[in-house]
Amino acid sequence: MRRLPALVAVAAAMTAALFLLSLRAGRVHVFKGLDGPSAPTAIPPVSAAPWTEYQGGGDSTLAVLLTDPRSCWLGLAHGLKSAGIPFSITTDYTRAVRHRVVLVYPIVSGATLTPVASEALSRFVGGGGVLIGSEVLGAGMEKVFGFATAVPLRARFRLAFARPEEDLDPLEREIPIDNPRAASTMGAYAYTAPVEPPLAVYEDGSAAIIEHRSGAGRAVALGFDLGALLLKGYNNRQESMARSYDNGYEPALDVLLRFLGAVYRRGEDRAVTIGPVPNGRNLAVILTHDIDYTRSLRNAFVYARAEQEAGVRATYFVQAKYIRDYNDDVILSADSPALLQGLRDLGMEIASHTVSHSRTFAHFPLGEGTERYPGYHPFVADRETTTGGTVLGELRVSRFLLESLVPNLRVTSFRPGYLSNPYSLPQALAATGYRFSSSVTANDSLTHLPFQLDYARENVGEVPVFEFPITIADGPPPLEERLPESLALARRIARRGGLCVVLIHPDVVEPKLGFERQFVAGVRDFSWFGTLNDFGSWWAARNAVEISSERRGGRLVVRLTAPSPIEGLALAPPAGMHPVAGQPLVRGASEQWVVLGRLEGAATVEFTR
Ligand SMILES: [Zn+2]
Repeated sequence: MRRLPALVAVAAAMTAALFLLSLRAGRVHVFKGLDGPSAPTAIPPVSAAPWTEYQGGGDSTLAVLLTDPRSCWLGLAHGLKSAGIPFSITTDYTRAVRHRVVLVYPIVSGATLTPVASEALSRFVGGGGVLIGSEVLGAGMEKVFGFATAVPLRARFRLAFARPEEDLDPLEREIPIDNPRAASTMGAYAYTAPVEPPLAVYEDGSAAIIEHRSGAGRAVALGFDLGALLLKGYNNRQESMARSYDNGYEPALDVLLRFLGAVYRRGEDRAVTIGPVPNGRNLAVILTHDIDYTRSLRNAFVYARAEQEAGVRATYFVQAKYIRDYNDDVILSADSPALLQGLRDLGMEIASHTVSHSRTFAHFPLGEGTERYPGYHPFVADRETTTGGTVLGELRVSRFLLESLVPNLRVTSFRPGYLSNPYSLPQALAATGYRFSSSVTANDSLTHLPFQLDYARENVGEVPVFEFPITIADGPPPLEERLPESLALARRIARRGGLCVVLIHPDVVEPKLGFERQFVAGVRDFSWFGTLNDFGSWWAARNAVEISSERRGGRLVVRLTAPSPIEGLALAPPAGMHPVAGQPLVRGASEQWVVLGRLEGAATVEFTR
C-alpha cells in the first residue's frame, strides 16, 4: 500500500473542512424524506461478445467470414448495424459461399485460411460471387484479387478515392484512416502491380483498395483493418485523426461503410438496406439543452414553450446539483420539481447531466455502487479538484433524484459535463439503467451515425447502450454568428442520411433561441425531430431488425424480424423495384425509401419491378 503524501492529505483535510463549512452555511439542499437509490449497482466483469450473436440472417445478407475471432470484428459488426447493411457472421467458408457477397475479415492468408477454403473462395469468385478481402496477404489468392504482393506499411494516414463521383464532398474524397501523432500506428498494406487501377490510394499513391474482375465475379481487397478503424471512432480513441472537433463534417467511417454497402448492393440483387432516419427522412435532428447553471432551469421553460409551438420536442440534460461548490450554487431546490414537471408537460425529455458536473469526471474512481442521496457528496473545489465523486455515484444519484422529483419519470439518457468520458462509462451506464448516451462529439467519433458502445471503450465486450454524438454545439464563436454554416453542415449530413444532435445551453434565452428557431425552420423540410429517448428507442429497435430476402418468380419477398416494435422503418430495395400495391405494412414510398408502419415480430414485404 502506498502512503498518502503529506501534501495530498493536507489538501484533502482542507477540502473536507471547506465542505463542512459549506454544509454549515446551508449550501446542501436536502429534499425531505428522499433517500436512495436503495438497490446497489454491480457491474459484471467484461465478457467477450460472441460472434455467434451475429450469425442470423439468410444467404441474401453480406456474409462476414471471420478468420480470427480475437480481431476487431465487433467494430465491423457495430458499423454494419449502424449503416443498415444486413450481414451474417460465420467462421465456416462453406456457409459463407452460399451468399453472393462475402467479406473475409480480418486477414486473408495461409495462416487463416486452409488451402481448401482458399480454393472454394476462388471458385466462388469465378462463379460470379463478389469477394471482399481485408488485408489480403496471400493464401495463394493474389491472382484472384489481381495484384503482385501485399507490402506492409509501417503507417499510412490518409486514403483518397482515385475516381470519385463528380459531386462527391471534398471531405468524402479523402479521409483520415490513422493518427500520425499516435504512439503506435495501426499499420496497413499496399498492393503492388494491381491489374486494374486502384479504387483508392494512400497519401504516397500506393494502392489501398483494389478491385479485380475475375471469371464471372469480382474481388475487392482492402489494405487496412476497417474493424480496428471503426473501433477507434466508436471508443473515442481517434486522438487527433479527425479534421475538426465539433461543428464540422467528419464522415471518415461513414464513407467506408457506404463503400461496403455499395459493393454489397451491386453484388446482391436481393439486397435490402435500412435507412438511418425514421420515416425515410434525411436527417434526425435532436435538440438538446444542458442545464448546468442556476438560471438555466427557468430559461429552459422559454425554450420548451418555443419548441412546443414549433411542434418539436427536445432533451434537457439536467445537472442534479444539490451542493453549492466552486462551480455554482445548487440547481435543484424546492421549486425545481414544478419546473421539471412543467418541461415534461410540454413534451420534453428530462435526462441526467451528472451531480457534480466535474471537469475531472473522466478520472473519478468507479465507486462502490452503494452511493445514495443525500449522503453522496461530490464537491468541486476548483477546476482540477473534485473530492467524494465516483462514476457510479454521478449516474445513480442523478437518476434517482430526477426520478424522485418528477412522478412517473424514467431517466434513460445521459451526458457528462465537459464531455468528460471515463473508460468505465459504457458499462456503468448499462448497470445504472441508462440506454442512451450523448457523451462525445460526432467529429471526435469520425461518424454522423449513432453507434453501440463497447465495454471499457475497448474491443472485446459490448454493452446495450447507444451513443448519439453531438454535431453542433454553442460556445465560441457565438451560435448566432454560425447559422449559415450550421445549416450547411446539416445539409451535408442529410445528403447521405444521418444524425444531427444540437447542444444549446439555456444560460441565456436570446440570441440563442433565435438561432434554434431559424435552424429548425431551415432543416424542417428534410428532417425528423425528436428527443434522444424517442430516437434512441427507435434506433435500438432498428438495431435488432433482421432482414433476408428471396426471389420468387419476378417478385422479391423480404422477411423482416423486429424483436421490439418499430414504426417508420425505411427500406432501400434493389434499384428499380417497388412494393407490391395493397400491403398494409407499407405506409409510403419515395424514390429512395419504402417506409413501413408499425412492425413487431415477423413480417414480409413484397417488391416487384
Ligand atoms: Zn454541462
